[in-house]
Amino acid sequence: MDRLAIVVPCYNEEEALPFSIKELKRVLDDLVKKEKISKDSFMLLVDDGSKDKTWETIDKTHKEDKQVFGLKLAGNVGHQYALTAGLIEAGKLADITISIDADLQDDTDVIEEMVDKFHQGKDIVYGVRNDRKKDSFFKRTTAQGFYKVMSMMGVKTVYNHADFRLMSKRAVEHFSKFGESNLFLRGMVPLIGYETDCVYYERKERVAGESKYPLKKMIALAWNGITSFSVKPINLILGMGLFILFLCVLAAIYAFVSYLSGSTVAGWTSLILSIWFLGGLQLISIGLIGQYIGKIYTEVKNRPRYNIEILLADEEI
Ligand code: UDP
Ligand code: MG
Repeated sequence: MDRLAIVVPCYNEEEALPFSIKELKRVLDDLVKKEKISKDSFMLLVDDGSKDKTWETIDKTHKEDKQVFGLKLAGNVGHQYALTAGLIEAGKLADITISIDADLQDDTDVIEEMVDKFHQGKDIVYGVRNDRKKDSFFKRTTAQGFYKVMSMMGVKTVYNHADFRLMSKRAVEHFSKFGESNLFLRGMVPLIGYETDCVYYERKERVAGESKYPLKKMIALAWNGITSFSVKPINLILGMGLFILFLCVLAAIYAFVSYLSGSTVAGWTSLILSIWFLGGLQLISIGLIGQYIGKIYTEVKNRPRYNIEILLADEEI
């Protein structure tokens, strides 16, 4: 039978953890009883350098309950990195991994459906939200705008899918070979290939605590998603340059005709405007190219992406 690992990134989640541990235990026990997963299935709680009692909770629960594994990162590296650390470590032990947030916003009831699809031969099963009614208007519109921009930029992502997904051992194995430092899992996982499927669910409110994803982090994620996966912004600059060149030709023709007709006016306004306009344009362009150079820089450094301090698991390791 297949061993399942539920991977949960946790950052300052002391309030939500008791609820999520209990709920995920229920799911594991239920699936074991139905003989869909093996008895030694587990959850791996990844502490992403929390400042509160998150690790104490994980450590304590691990001592009492051998179904609960813990992974402590030495500092806060962010959701995408914590999740990657958890997936790669869990992938070494388990046949199936499912990643889920610690706040129980994703519906644990579809985990069974995900496992069923795995048994039908799917390597990756995406959890997809079927509506966004529970979101604020702001979050809904920004999120939808994000998916639109991503597809315009030619990045393959699954619409309305966050990081709630099942991955088989071999999918995780392949994923671990992605050597990049700028992580955007939603863009990377579709690149793995294999047969995939989706399950649909309604996203709930956070069970306890507050969102660890303020607007600043959300924008950073979106920006990282675009600049790590697409060179279209550079093409856009080129397009913009060509367009302006075309406008210049038109303007030159216009100037030449006015000159021939004898009605030339020396325009200070147009001159000063064009200086500002071109200056601005050049700055934007240089800035954008700089973004990519910045990324090349961090990739070339090839730093380790995380640092595992402790790994709690069963006796086998
Ligand atoms: N998280 C993390 N590191 C961070 C920020 C968040 O591991 O630096 C975890 C967090 O504990 C949660 C998940 O990522 O399990 C998603 O965060 P959250 O629920 O706060 O995001 P939201 O649902 O509000 O977008
Ligand atoms: Mg959440």
